[in-house]
Amino acid sequence: MSLVDLHTHTTASDGTDTPAQLMALAKEAGLVAVAVTDHDTVSGLDEAEAAGRELGVELVRGCELSCITDMGEAHILGLWLPHDIAPVQKKLRWLQQKRTERNVAIVDRLQALGLDISMDEVLRVARGESVGRPHIASVLLRKGYVRNSREVFQKYLGSGGRAYIPRTVLGAEEAVHLLASQGATVSLAHPLHWKISPDNLAKLVARLKDAGLSAIEAWYSEHSAADVRVCLELARRFDLGVSGGSDYHGSNKPAIALGVGYGSLRVHKSVLDDLRARRRAGA
Ligand code: AMP
Ligand code: FE
Ligand code: FE
Ligand code: ZN
Repeated sequence: MSLVDLHTHTTASDGTDTPAQLMALAKEAGLVAVAVTDHDTVSGLDEAEAAGRELGVELVRGCELSCITDMGEAHILGLWLPHDIAPVQKKLRWLQQKRTERNVAIVDRLQALGLDISMDEVLRVARGESVGRPHIASVLLRKGYVRNSREVFQKYLGSGGRAYIPRTVLGAEEAVHLLASQGATVSLAHPLHWKISPDNLAKLVARLKDAGLSAIEAWYSEHSAADVRVCLELARRFDLGVSGGSDYHGSNKPAIALGVGYGSLRVHKSVLDDLRARRRAGA
């Protein structure tokens, strides 16, 4: 049985394995293909691709964009990004600029709260292009201001936290259109994570499909069997493909393992083959 993982993070964003380490781990885990889908950056893809070529593990070039909809947050995965994606790169640079401004503002707030933390320390923790709250969290954790990452998000960095600042993000339709216009297969990540009502989720999917959405992430670490069924039904109803992945982040989400998530996730290679067949058919 050949397995794949189409949703993973590396040190290019908030994962803790370098792209090459992640591909080596995929090989060890017996995966035949992996999509690297770092938040707001494609800077880990070339390294992952080169390592994958050496190891005989297929790399699907991807990214994950956090977006806003009128029903709340949504995350959009781009899969099979072409090598040359100038319009996407331009948007990603803008998002990185906004991330930097926000990180500085969060650190300022933490300092105003009397915590000893600097942007330099945050940047030392972050090893890649896309820097964010997990890196700030790791500094606070190391300095003993909090006991664990749950507490740091609850107390300081999560919405409602004392140093919370919302992030500038793209509208979901804009993000879907941008990625689709460059030839990517665009999938709605972990659709059940946001607890939107079934009716609203269906409305959202319909709207995103009009913008170029081509798949739904049905197989996902945190999806229950019922969640998977909801996603498969939505895919059937809207004639969309189905993607699947663990959302592996290395030791930033230690309970989630590459390929298998919390242990029971299995994404069969047929998921990848079906998505590829849909691409060929222009769906
Ligand atoms: P950012 O992109 O800077 O807004 O940070 C978002 C990332 O922070 C997510 O992708 C998660 O990896 C992490 N994160 C967000 N909320 C939490 C939480 N409550 N506990 C642990 N990690 C979180
Ligand atoms: Fe993350
Ligand atoms: Fe996500
Ligand atoms: Zn993710």
